[in-house]
Amino acid sequence: MKASLTPDTIREWLKSIPDPEIPHVSVVDMGMVGEIRVEEEGVQVELIPTFAGCPAVKLLQQSIEALLREKGLKPKVHVEYSRPWQAEYVTEAGWTALRKAGFAIPKKLTDDPREMFSEVACPRCHSEAVSLTSPFGPTACRAIFYCHSCGEAFELFKPPL
Ligand SMILES: [Zn+2]
Repeated sequence: MKASLTPDTIREWLKSIPDPEIPHVSVVDMGMVGEIRVEEEGVQVELIPTFAGCPAVKLLQQSIEALLREKGLKPKVHVEYSRPWQAEYVTEAGWTALRKAGFAIPKKLTDDPREMFSEVACPRCHSEAVSLTSPFGPTACRAIFYCHSCGEAFELFKPPL
């Protein structure tokens, strides 16, 4: 193990891995990379799934391990289900990229869809005059909304219901 290797360096590397659901945003900027530990035996990376049950988690785990192996490390990525992902983990760069990609994120993540869908704003014009078109978008992690102000549809990133 190289002595100069720090968790920050690894975090920078992981920025090259996009979120499998939203290719414009890295897993780091989505706030999915938790604690990184550089140890004698290898590198431990904590992966916080945006929403438990999202099928992309396995894929992501493999991508991270593959990247770190390419760097000559012995990675161990463990998926942390006990610590729920929160919208606050998303970095400033992550929010910008999400909005640019036309995605909204619920202000509050709950198991109650009525509560979660009640405070949604359009990522383009920030209007809250939106209505739910379909609770199931292209994947279980997305819902489709329609904005009455700008007349565009957009997707809300959400826990699978
Ligand atoms: Zn709008």
